[in-house]
Amino acid sequence: MPDDTPHTDRDETPVEPAAADAARDAPATDGGAAVGASDGTGADVGGSDDRAVDAGASATAGGGATDGTAEARPAPVLELEGIVKQYGSETAVSGLDLTVHEGELVTLLGPSGCGKTTTLRMIAGLETPTEGTIAVGDEVVAGDGAVTPPEERDVGLVFQEFALFPHLSVAENVSFGLEDPDSDAADARVSELLELVGLADYGDRSVTDLSGGQRQRVALARSLAPEPDVLLLDEPFSNLDVSLRVRMREEVKRILDETGVTAVSVTHDQEEALSLSDRVAVVNDGAVEQVGDPGEVFEHPTSRFVASFLGQASFLPARVGEREVETSVGSYDRDLLKGLGDSYVGSHVDVLVRPDDLRATPVAEGDADGEVIRRQYTGPSFVYHVKLDNGTVLRCLHNHTEEFDVGEPVAVTLVADHELAWYPAQ
Ligand code: ATP
Repeated sequence: MPDDTPHTDRDETPVEPAAADAARDAPATDGGAAVGASDGTGADVGGSDDRAVDAGASATAGGGATDGTAEARPAPVLELEGIVKQYGSETAVSGLDLTVHEGELVTLLGPSGCGKTTTLRMIAGLETPTEGTIAVGDEVVAGDGAVTPPEERDVGLVFQEFALFPHLSVAENVSFGLEDPDSDAADARVSELLELVGLADYGDRSVTDLSGGQRQRVALARSLAPEPDVLLLDEPFSNLDVSLRVRMREEVKRILDETGVTAVSVTHDQEEALSLSDRVAVVNDGAVEQVGDPGEVFEHPTSRFVASFLGQASFLPARVGEREVETSVGSYDRDLLKGLGDSYVGSHVDVLVRPDDLRATPVAEGDADGEVIRRQYTGPSFVYHVKLDNGTVLRCLHNHTEEFDVGEPVAVTLVADHELAWYPAQ
């Protein structure tokens, strides 16, 4: 049986044994970047039983993606170290570390109240950290006795509600933050930005005569005008309707890519975070639990919290055999579980499965693994919630033409054609 005591890696970040095994096996191309090191924040938030165990994540750490410490990364532009923010007895941020590199967009993603907006406001200078330091470029702007006021930080902020000046024209809004807004240089900069955001002919318009998407473009142009070192986006799409949100996501991504600005955005919308960001930092209870590129965070969540927060995750109990893992929906090749070492033979693990990994088939009651307890219709597809006889609820993704009824007995098959993350059984 494997040792279930959390191990400690060289960065003093405790890891589960499976992750430690995998870290040893992984090619250490980044000098042995520690499993779950996550810019030094580690995956050690959320309780030791909930710790990073997806060996896949640890294996890719060797490729430098998990912890954002790859050698090839451009220079850091923004560094948050040990940030704590307390409001009286309320701890809004509880030891948050994050490094953002030049030209990248990092999104803070997490549930309501986890401290995302407070973090953004501290970067902007609208709040002062109780502990920790914030550096923009080479300058410490908060902590170590320094408090640089917001207007002296090279930081732009796009607010949720855009906060445009209604009595000013589009061009006047954009030039507002420039040192000499009436100069020829300012005019040229405004024209350049309006061109960039697709509003070249709108300079003289009142901002009150614009659509939501157009207002957002003006807000973005205004924040970009002074060429900030870091652009902050606070839930930038939450005031737009759903279809416009998707279009503006693409548009904002293009604009940020074209300007090459370093940006931090905040959202609780996982689809937005995954589609927009170069890296996603999943925040739990005031600290970063995992940071990595979107595919990696989604495919190799280093904790149950991250796994549960991204996609409709379920955890399928399994017993590890010599060659196969046995589950209540059949036995599967052990290789399906990423990096599962021999030391786990005989142990129980929980396998992370999402709806696209599973299919349900209506069968006679005697052959069923469970029954459909809910059907979620999304238009192109159904997600069927199936309660197994042991009480586990799994979600199975089906084409909209495959209609089953609630109460129907079904067999469930694991159809995943990729390696799956897993965690020691709780
Ligand atoms: P949401 O997604 O809902 O905006 P969030 O992750 O941005 O949430 P924050 O707004 O940063 O969360 O708040 C984090 C915690 O700090 C919450 O519990 C909140 O109630 C508390 N908090 C934030 N601002 C203050 C304040 N000025 N005074 C007291 N508590 C605050």
